[in-house]
Amino acid sequence: MIYRVALLFSGLTILLAACSREPEVSATPPEEGVEKEATWTMLAPEDAIDPFTYANYNEVRVTNVDLDLKVSFDEKTLTGAAEIDFERLNPEAAILVLDANDLAISNVEAFSNSDWVETAYTMGEDDPVLGSRLEISLPNGAKKVRIAYGTSPDAEGLQWLSPEQTAGKTHPFMFSQFQPMLARSMAPLQDTPAVRMTYSAHIKTPPALIALMSARQDQSGNRDGDYTFKMSQPIPSYLLAIVVGDFGFKAINDHIGVYAEDYILSASAAEFADTPAMEEANAALYGPYRWGRYDMIVLPPSFPFGGMENPRLSFLTPTLIAGDKSLTNVVAHELAHSWSGNLVTNATWRDAWLNEGFTSYVENRVMEALYGESRAVMERALDLETLKRAIAEADRPELTALKMPADLAHPDDAFSQVSYAGGMFFLKFLEERFGREVFDPFIKGYFDHFAFQSITTEDFLAYFEDNLWTDHPDAVTKAEIDAWVFEPGLPDTVQNPQSDAFDKVTAQQSAWLGGGDLAGIETAAWTTHEWLHFINTLPSDLSLDDFTALDGLFSLSTSQNAEIAFAWYMKAIAAGYEPALDPLDAFLMRVGRGKFIYRLYQRLVDQDKREWAEAVYERARPGYHPIAQRRIDAIFAE
Ligand SMILES: [Zn+2]
Repeated sequence: MIYRVALLFSGLTILLAACSREPEVSATPPEEGVEKEATWTMLAPEDAIDPFTYANYNEVRVTNVDLDLKVSFDEKTLTGAAEIDFERLNPEAAILVLDANDLAISNVEAFSNSDWVETAYTMGEDDPVLGSRLEISLPNGAKKVRIAYGTSPDAEGLQWLSPEQTAGKTHPFMFSQFQPMLARSMAPLQDTPAVRMTYSAHIKTPPALIALMSARQDQSGNRDGDYTFKMSQPIPSYLLAIVVGDFGFKAINDHIGVYAEDYILSASAAEFADTPAMEEANAALYGPYRWGRYDMIVLPPSFPFGGMENPRLSFLTPTLIAGDKSLTNVVAHELAHSWSGNLVTNATWRDAWLNEGFTSYVENRVMEALYGESRAVMERALDLETLKRAIAEADRPELTALKMPADLAHPDDAFSQVSYAGGMFFLKFLEERFGREVFDPFIKGYFDHFAFQSITTEDFLAYFEDNLWTDHPDAVTKAEIDAWVFEPGLPDTVQNPQSDAFDKVTAQQSAWLGGGDLAGIETAAWTTHEWLHFINTLPSDLSLDDFTALDGLFSLSTSQNAEIAFAWYMKAIAAGYEPALDPLDAFLMRVGRGKFIYRLYQRLVDQDKREWAEAVYERARPGYHPIAQRRIDAIFAE
């Protein structure tokens, strides 16, 4: 995912390869017979277990699931069956434990002695975080089970939109969002990133609609309401994805394209025209893209995230369509997940930085390769500011180290800027110390070595020690690494991005605030990033007259660039600049992306605008995703 704004559970704090090359072998192998002691101890098995699953995956492990589901927009349900293959890691194991969330199970069978036979199962109590424990008895010799079930109309991982909530207004729309732990609301699974499985699916929809999944599909393009999919590379459950609706397709090259509702299809293809170049830059650094096609779908505005890296089919928010490719770092981010996250996956959400920090780092390297150092530095400078804020606002210091604490209350808590920008700045620190000539091949080798595996932070550190640090022991100290990975706060070895472009913006802003002419600021060539820097650094005591002057000259309240509008509204609310409220009302009705709306509602509440915000929310809420509704409900409940 990108730029999830995580609402820390305990309060209101808002943070929000085939590389054929072998990893380099140590030039100085340890003396024969002497086992070199590892610097970081590996986790005890019980500490490496994902606490957010009921699954007994160290005893019996799911290897494949075949879904056969009918999509009903009238009922808002998926009904059918899941056939699940598994292997017994413990030959004595007599039960298979799966995760389920709000599923109605009607029957469970096991395939035993060449026949399907009914088998016993129990469904545990519904836990608000984990859902329910589904325990299935396994007859001797059984290697698969078949579960007949239906989803709930309130399944938290699925959003059902009425025709009125789409741009076309003619057909309904449904899409999934399963990261970090909502795949269990769509199918009974071992819903943990520690387990990888292949999948296939047969999906029936109303005939006018198209179904897509994060898998290979029949490419006929026929709309017949009958679709089949196959993902033959093992993926964690949170990368299952489904979308059903009325949308078109536009090819960008022979294996990259974009799906979107008609109103935004051409604009999307134009906005994302550099995606092939991004793939090339990524592959040049870290080895080839391994997933076949790379398509994107631009979802309706209620999609709560910037993007979701579902394999072969990234989901994207329409707020990226700025008209000038200025926000396409999100595409670079989702594409980069094809290496970090989808290929090499965090084994538990305590290790989320392995997904998001690596991806933010790769994203920034790709942006630099395509658009130059200046843009990459500006993006890092903006990230550093949000990272500092996330650390300052964190409820618990333990949530500001890369390795999340053992008592993490909810996986969402791991999706803050600490994992994203913090992870990126840690890798930037290593890059600077070891040098790109050494560090780039190391990362490439890392993706190759752990391809299609789920690993922990400790696995990374052991690999880092054996394949990089041992050869260059003076580049970093253990204390420096520990400060990043295990200790709270921002380490003093963090790189400070120096942006000349931002310095020029600051100089012009200072001249104006010192009595100069506002119209004298040369904004014509400013990029989105320079605008964001200008707005974010406006002094907190700026006068309402100055707000009026800025808005009059630059129409910031009505900016169609969602990032710029958001930054401006945050300042305007804090200053009590009332003319921004009507455009903000329209923004909150139009945009459902959590990164923007959670912080806007929070700021309105904090600035004595609760009544106004509640009135807007009452109108906007039905259009928001269930995930967004839950989070904003919590803001108003305080
Ligand atoms: Zn991400």
